[in-house]
Amino acid sequence: MKFSELAAYLDQLEATNSRNELVRILSELYRACSTDEIEPTTYLIQGRLAPFFEPVEIGLGERLLITAMATAYGMAKEDVTKAYRQSGDLGLTAQALAPKTRRNVPSAVEVHRRLWEIAGTSGEGSLKGKIDLFAALLKELDASSAKHLVRITVGKMRLGIGDPTVLDALSFAKQGDRSLRPVLEAAYNRTSDLGLIARTLWARGVKGMDALKVTVGKPLRSQLAERLPNPEAVIKKLGLVGVQPKYDGFRVQIHKDGKAVSIFSRNLETMTPMFPELVAATKDLAVKSVILDGEAIAYNPELEEYVPFQETTARRRKEGIDEFAARVPLRAFVFDIMFRNGSDLTPMPYERRFAIVDELLKGSDTLQAAPLTKTDSVEVLTRELLDNISRGLEGVVAKRLDSPYQAGARNFNWVKLKRNTSGELTDTIDVVLIGYYRGKGKRAEFGAGALLAGVYDSDKDEFVTISKLGTGLSDEGWRALHKKVNQLEVTEKPARIRSILVPDVWLQPDVVVEVLADEITPSPRHTAGMVGDRPGFALRFPRIVSIRDADKKPEDATSVREIREMFKQQHQRAVRE
Ligand code: AMP
Repeated sequence: MKFSELAAYLDQLEATNSRNELVRILSELYRACSTDEIEPTTYLIQGRLAPFFEPVEIGLGERLLITAMATAYGMAKEDVTKAYRQSGDLGLTAQALAPKTRRNVPSAVEVHRRLWEIAGTSGEGSLKGKIDLFAALLKELDASSAKHLVRITVGKMRLGIGDPTVLDALSFAKQGDRSLRPVLEAAYNRTSDLGLIARTLWARGVKGMDALKVTVGKPLRSQLAERLPNPEAVIKKLGLVGVQPKYDGFRVQIHKDGKAVSIFSRNLETMTPMFPELVAATKDLAVKSVILDGEAIAYNPELEEYVPFQETTARRRKEGIDEFAARVPLRAFVFDIMFRNGSDLTPMPYERRFAIVDELLKGSDTLQAAPLTKTDSVEVLTRELLDNISRGLEGVVAKRLDSPYQAGARNFNWVKLKRNTSGELTDTIDVVLIGYYRGKGKRAEFGAGALLAGVYDSDKDEFVTISKLGTGLSDEGWRALHKKVNQLEVTEKPARIRSILVPDVWLQPDVVVEVLADEITPSPRHTAGMVGDRPGFALRFPRIVSIRDADKKPEDATSVREIREMFKQQHQRAVRE
């Protein structure tokens, strides 16, 4: 497939605002791919060269791209810059400057290979090398191809193709319907690598999926926790449980393969450089290969206190990691093990996995097994909850002792219990920002009207609205948040958003914020949970508590299923009270 043919599909994908159409167009593209083409194509359509967890950077920012475009099109840099100022979109600028058609456009595979080469060019004089390679590539591309190449390079492919959309499209391309989705999804939960799944499906068929095992170096999708309203409900539903403190830190999946250690965040980004002390401690473990799951939290040795999430993530700023590590060292409370010395441990019951964690981490100070209390008593569970809250922790997680590790699942194997400051049991909700209103008065002056927020409908792979947000942040906080979302503005409603309300500006779903609300109420204006003539759900008195985009992708926002469950539990609580 020529890159120009791929670009034509990308144009079609860009033009639709229906999710079904996205899947249809994408499955058509897949049908046109050979086994060798499907893997790089899968990464390119998401604006990447490799799976999400591989930190491959092309390393050409806007300024360098302008230089490359000037070289490719024989223009002065100032003129390219002027054209860019007019359109405000570097991809459109390239499209306007490149010839409409070209003979001998390279294949999509070739373009992918050459972008890898550019990404791999490093060392002295590498910038010039990168620019030259990129300019040479642009010289071979027609207008539409140039537009998409530039967008991929600056990381601004706004097609809204989420991972579930890719899985659906693969199933349609292979089988003509959605029936392969569960098998593909299971392989995805084990490997997180859509390109690998696509290639294996094309090369070996559905049977090939079994061969995609848990592998050191490829993050598994994280197991997640359900909610229940109180300790009674937990014991009633789960019986004997293992209770652990719920740390408000940073989820870490730690992989060790010989001397090589990688650390992934909850949304599967590689975070290894952020955690030097965890890397060192993992290297010292007496095991050849291992995958661990845990929560990293900063510990202030002077005050003998744990430091909350916001401060733990302050390290994301690359400067000063070593300083930070010396002043407030991190610990990881490890609560699970999924792989050891060549064996997949995920099918093993939790009790046995935890015993292995306990044994393995003996003697390590930085990596500690999260303490586990076994109980089937409401009193003991309540005491644990209150104890942990009084120690400044978030609450507890209760786990079924006989459960396997179910990658990517949110179910009652794990149940979280939290308590908010007012003493009432409630939980925050993670919403995705999908639009905003320009606002009136003082707010409008600094471009900070109300935001339109949604939750994720995982069955339909759509974002549905649940609330407008207007409080919770300082003026400065609003300004910063708006600055962040301004980069996500799009002119049309993105394909995966379902909404009755129409904000002044639509946003590509990307930023996740944590909100606290008094209540979930039925609403005819919001689409979350709306089925036929049944109303949707809205949040009453929502306020923003924090911005969670450091560790959550839009698909990790609270799901409609969870909202429905929270609504039911709130109702039960009201009846009891
Ligand atoms: P939530 O993000 O509110 O759904 O809660 C689940 C998160 O709690 C996990 O993703 C972990 O990051 C965190 N967590 C903290 N302590 C534990 C624990 N002991 N077991 C499991 N998850 C934990």
